[in-house]
Amino acid sequence: MFPRRAAVIGSGFGGLSLAIRLQAAGIATTLFEQRDKPGGRAYVYEDQGFTFDGGPTVITDPTCLEEVFEAAGRRLSDYVELIPVSPFYRLLWPDGRQFDYVNDQAGLDAQIQTFDPADVEGYRRFLAYSQAVFEEGYLKLGAVPFLNFSDMMKAGPNLVKLQAWRSVYSMVSSFVKDEHLREAFSFHSLLVGGNPFSTSSIYALIHALERKWGVFFPRGGTGALVRGMVRLFEDLGGEVHLSTPVDEIVLENGIARAVRLKGGQAIPFDVVASNADVVHTYSHLLRGDSHGRAHGAKLAKMRHSMSLFVTYFGANRTWDHLQHHTVLFGPRYRGLVDEIFKGPSLPEDFSLYLHAPTVTDPTLAPPGCTAFYVLSPVPHLGKADIDWEVEGPRYRDRILAHLEARLLPGLRDSLVTTRMLTPFGFRDELSAHLGSAFSVEPILTQSAWFRPHNRDDRVPNLYFTGAGTHPGAGVPGVVGSAKATAGLILADLGVVTA
Ligand SMILES: Cc1cc2nc3c(=O)[nH]c(=O)nc-3n(C[C@H](O)[C@H](O)[C@H](O)COP(=O)(O)OP(=O)(O)OC[C@H]3O[C@@H](n4cnc5c(N)ncnc54)[C@H](O)[C@@H]3O)c2cc1C
Repeated sequence: MFPRRAAVIGSGFGGLSLAIRLQAAGIATTLFEQRDKPGGRAYVYEDQGFTFDGGPTVITDPTCLEEVFEAAGRRLSDYVELIPVSPFYRLLWPDGRQFDYVNDQAGLDAQIQTFDPADVEGYRRFLAYSQAVFEEGYLKLGAVPFLNFSDMMKAGPNLVKLQAWRSVYSMVSSFVKDEHLREAFSFHSLLVGGNPFSTSSIYALIHALERKWGVFFPRGGTGALVRGMVRLFEDLGGEVHLSTPVDEIVLENGIARAVRLKGGQAIPFDVVASNADVVHTYSHLLRGDSHGRAHGAKLAKMRHSMSLFVTYFGANRTWDHLQHHTVLFGPRYRGLVDEIFKGPSLPEDFSLYLHAPTVTDPTLAPPGCTAFYVLSPVPHLGKADIDWEVEGPRYRDRILAHLEARLLPGLRDSLVTTRMLTPFGFRDELSAHLGSAFSVEPILTQSAWFRPHNRDDRVPNLYFTGAGTHPGAGVPGVVGSAKATAGLILADLGVVTA
C-alpha cells in the first residue's frame, strides 16, 4: 500500500497542475494558498466592472494545459475556451517602425523585407535553429526532472551542438542584421525573466514554440483558466484552502511529516510539495532544519530575475488601432536591459509591454470601455534600493504619459481606475525573494540540474514545482515542471498511471 495524502503549498499554475495530476492519480491532495484567490502570479483584480489579470496573459503551448486535463480524463475545452490572438504582438519602435508578429510566413517575410531584404533568408535560418532547440530543450527535456549531474551530462553534447553557451541576442544577431529585427526575435527571454544578452540561446526556443501552436487568450481572461483548473481539481475531490498560509514544513527524522499553518495547526501528510518561492520555502518554511536554512542561504545568493512594475488601468473609451499585445521598445535596448538586470537605480527610459484584453474579449470591461495593463521590467530589490511607495505613483504617471504620447491619445482624461503592482507587491504578497517576478534567473549555469531540484536532495518526500525549478518560469515552463514533479512523486509512491 502506498501513502495517499499530499499537500501542495501554493496555487500558481505549477501548484494547480501538480495538485490535479496527483488527485487524478488517486492521491488525496490538499492545496494551501496564502492569498484569498488562487492563481499566484495569475491573481485577478476586479474594479468598477473591469477585470484585470494580474500576470500571465500570453498563453502559449495549449497542449501542455490540455495534457493536465487529459491526465484527469477531462477536456480543457469543457472548462475554458482559448481564443487565438493575432498578431501575437505588435512591436513599435521610437523611430516609428512597426512589426506585426504574425504566424504566417508570407506575412512575416513581407515585413522583414522592409527592414532588410537579406534578413528574410537570415530569419529562415533563425527559425530552423529555434526549432532545433525547441525539439531538444522543450519537447525532449522540458518535463524531465534533472536530479543527477549525469542527467545534465547526457544533455551536454546537444547543448554544445546548439551553442547553448551563447546568448539569445548573440545567436539571433548571427542570423539577422537589422537591429529592430534583432530586438523583435530576442526580447522573448524577458517574458520568462531572462536577459537576452546573457540568457542561454536555448531560450530562443520560445519563438518556435509560438510559431508551432500560436498565442492564445482564455475567454474571460487568464483568471478563467485558473478557475477552470480549480474546478477540475475540486471535481476530482481535491481540497483547496485559500487565505491559508503555510508557516512551516514539519520534518521528523529527515522526512516531511506535516505542514504547520500560521495559526499553529499541524496537518499530517505523506508527501509535501512546494509551489512557493524556492528561497522562501527553504529559508522560511524549513527554518527549523539546518540543511533547509543552509540551502536557503545558498539559493538566496543565486542570480534572480528582474522584477516588474505593472499598472492596471481602465479607460472609458476605445481606440481603433489598438492590438491585444503591443511591445513599445524604448530608445535603448542593451543599455536598458543592462540597467534592469544590474541596477543600481531605476532607468530613466523604459520598454513596455501593453496588454489590452478587451480587444479579444470585450466582457472584461463595461461596454465601450478598455481594460489594460502595462508592464515595465525593473531591477529587483537586491539590485536597486527604491522606495516603491514613493517612486511607484511617479513611475506610473510617467508610463501613462508615455503611452498617451506614443499610442493612446486622450488616455489620462479617460482613466476610470488604476492600480499598481510593484517589486514590494511581489515580495509581500507572493513571498518572492527580492521581489523577483520570475524567480531564479534562467542563465545556463542556473538551468536544468543547476536549478533547484524538483525533489529535495535529502528529504525524500519533499518536492518542488514552479518557476524556481526546471525548466523555469512562464506558464508552459511551470506546467512542465509540475509534470516532472508529478512523475517523480508517483514513481516514488509506486503509483502506476494509465
Ligand atoms: C506580470 C507578469 C506577467 C507574466 N506574463 C506571462 C505571460 O504572458 N505568459 C507566460 O507564460 N508567463 C507569464 N508570466 C510568468 C508566469 O506568470 C509565471 O512564471 C508563473 O505563473 C509562475 O507560476 P508558479 O507555479 O511558479 O507559481 P506562482 O504564480 O509564483 O504562485 C506561487 C503561489 O504560492 C503562494 N505561496 C507562497 N508562499 C506560500 C505559503 N507559505 N503558504 C501558502 N501559499 C504560499 C503564493 O501566494 C502564490 O499564490 C508573467 C509573470 C508576471 C509576474
